[in-house]
Amino acid sequence: MTAHIIDGRALAQKILDELKHEIATKNLKPGLTVVLVGENPASKVYVASKEKTANELGMKTETIRLPAQTSKTQLLELIEKLNRDKAVHGILVQMPLPKHFGKDDEYEVLSAVNPAKDVDGFHYINAGKLSQGRPAFVPCTPMGCMIILQDLVQKKIIEKLDGLDAIVIGRSNIVGKPLGFLLLDANCTVTFTHSKTQNLADKCRKADIIVAAIGKPEFVQGDWVKDGAVVIDVGINRIADPSHPKGSRLVGDVAFTEAAKRATAITPVPGGVGPMTIACLMKNTVKAALNG
Ligand code: NDP
Repeated sequence: MTAHIIDGRALAQKILDELKHEIATKNLKPGLTVVLVGENPASKVYVASKEKTANELGMKTETIRLPAQTSKTQLLELIEKLNRDKAVHGILVQMPLPKHFGKDDEYEVLSAVNPAKDVDGFHYINAGKLSQGRPAFVPCTPMGCMIILQDLVQKKIIEKLDGLDAIVIGRSNIVGKPLGFLLLDANCTVTFTHSKTQNLADKCRKADIIVAAIGKPEFVQGDWVKDGAVVIDVGINRIADPSHPKGSRLVGDVAFTEAAKRATAITPVPGGVGPMTIACLMKNTVKAALNG
């Protein structure tokens, strides 16, 4: 079997084109403010890409860059100001925060964002609504994964999601957990797995859908994939590769070449889930502007 290689860039572009049209025809001025604390190089790249995409769609976007030593109080004051600003429809505090922000601080910061402006979908109110199957701001990466899966159904690459066995590897609040709830809402039978899971390979071999969100390069082996399964690789890992002009390259959490020999469809890294994440952020921002 040779897998259908899912083109996340093309699907994301389709969403962006639709949003651009909606913004223009409805005369919207969605405002997205991104807050970046510190100098994390990957975060800088992500933020620049979000800003560029928002500008291309005709949004009003601003990135507020704060020094790494910014205190929690200062950050909370800024979020409060943005919550009150009627021109700001979406607020995104780029994660991770610098090391002096502990897990509890991170939770407090994310919880300070007005849930109606929480375009990342990380606020506990949005997470709670999602877990109860209520309309909410859905985190962008899980939303992108679901759009990919629904597109496979639409293209008749798979028949339906109803009743499929899905395994989610990783239980983070930003990917694994929300994605599990979305798959459940789509009538999949979901297995959540994590670093303490026993016999992970065997569990994967039984799954119709494998989602890998671990952060370990090529962790999911080709022979963990059942013939005909769908593989969604969320991982983004940079590995050394002297043959590459940059000396390194990006790989996912799945051993792509081997997995593609068994899967019906698989996302590549890069060019799979990544572009969908940004498109879904734009989708959430337009939704916030329409609500506001
Ligand atoms: P986290 O580090 O928050 O979570 C990783 C999860 O993987 C944890 O739940 C952990 O389990 C689990 N895990 C670790 N080791 C194992 C193992 N040996 N077996 C099974 N599970 C394991 O990562 P994120 O969810 O934030 O991100 C995951 C990956 O996705 C990263 O590569 C990240 O870069 C990428 N990512 C990509 C995005 C995109 O747009 N494409 C967006 C967001 C993330 P435990 O809970 O037990 O520790």
